[in-house]
Amino acid sequence: MKFSLGSLLPGVDRGWKSMYSICALQTCQNTLLMRSIQSRVGINVGQLWYCSVDCFATAARKRFSMLSGASILEMPHHPRLSIGLVMLSKGYLTDDQLRCAMAESRLHGEELEAVLIRLGLVSERQLATARAAQWGYPILGQDRMGQPVEADIPPTLLHTCTAVPLHCSEAAKRFLLGFVYRVEHTLLNSLEQITGFRAEPCFITATEFREQMRRLTTVHGCEEVVFDDPNSPVEMANMVAGFAVEVAAREATFTQCREYAWTRLTGKRRKIDVLFRVKNMAETGKKRNFLVPMENIRSFG
Ligand SMILES: [Zn+2]
Repeated sequence: MKFSLGSLLPGVDRGWKSMYSICALQTCQNTLLMRSIQSRVGINVGQLWYCSVDCFATAARKRFSMLSGASILEMPHHPRLSIGLVMLSKGYLTDDQLRCAMAESRLHGEELEAVLIRLGLVSERQLATARAAQWGYPILGQDRMGQPVEADIPPTLLHTCTAVPLHCSEAAKRFLLGFVYRVEHTLLNSLEQITGFRAEPCFITATEFREQMRRLTTVHGCEEVVFDDPNSPVEMANMVAGFAVEVAAREATFTQCREYAWTRLTGKRRKIDVLFRVKNMAETGKKRNFLVPMENIRSFG
């Protein structure tokens, strides 16, 4: 008579089989037994589950390779109307004032908007109103400023995009994000991916931005780490895997905002946002490092 473990313990067998089949890494080397032990510590990435930090690191390397190999596209959105024309149409400037400011701007190589403010021709509020009209988004009413907000958004990204959260509704899963210069859709998209909250854009003045940044507090147990010049996807994956171990990550989300590859690692008590500034990777010849063999990936345990 033939006995198999499966026939004696059908429940256990099924359990092991499902664990075996769900490690999202096709080349997963872990044995059935190892996987059953590690299943308590696997990492979820969206719908995918990796049985170990090793498998997670290998998958992360692939993600970063794709990211770095592709040139980073910053969507060149140019509003139909120039800021000068918007201000003319709103009656903030006369023809002569605009002409004078444009000449000054050319002479000193200074942004027209900066010249307008420096010469006192328009107020910050008028400038923000004109930008809002230019982009087709609302400007925040002055009476609505001043609410302290607690957010778990990396400050580096807020500074890079000159954006700041103004209001947040947990119930509606929405928050209001104020921009100074332009609406950065890459920030809106990545925030939605990472936080699950929908960000609604509006315009604010540069002073309002600075004031609101001071009111902003970070959610407890949430931190960011920024690497300005990563060498290769292998190095990036290793660092992310290292942090995953540090915070005992159960969940990871990968996204991109402007020139940053943004990975959020969520553990039980801590959350860490790892940002890699990858803008120049494709240009500086670092591409050759992208073909580093798999075995060079740091191994855990
Ligand atoms: Zn695995």
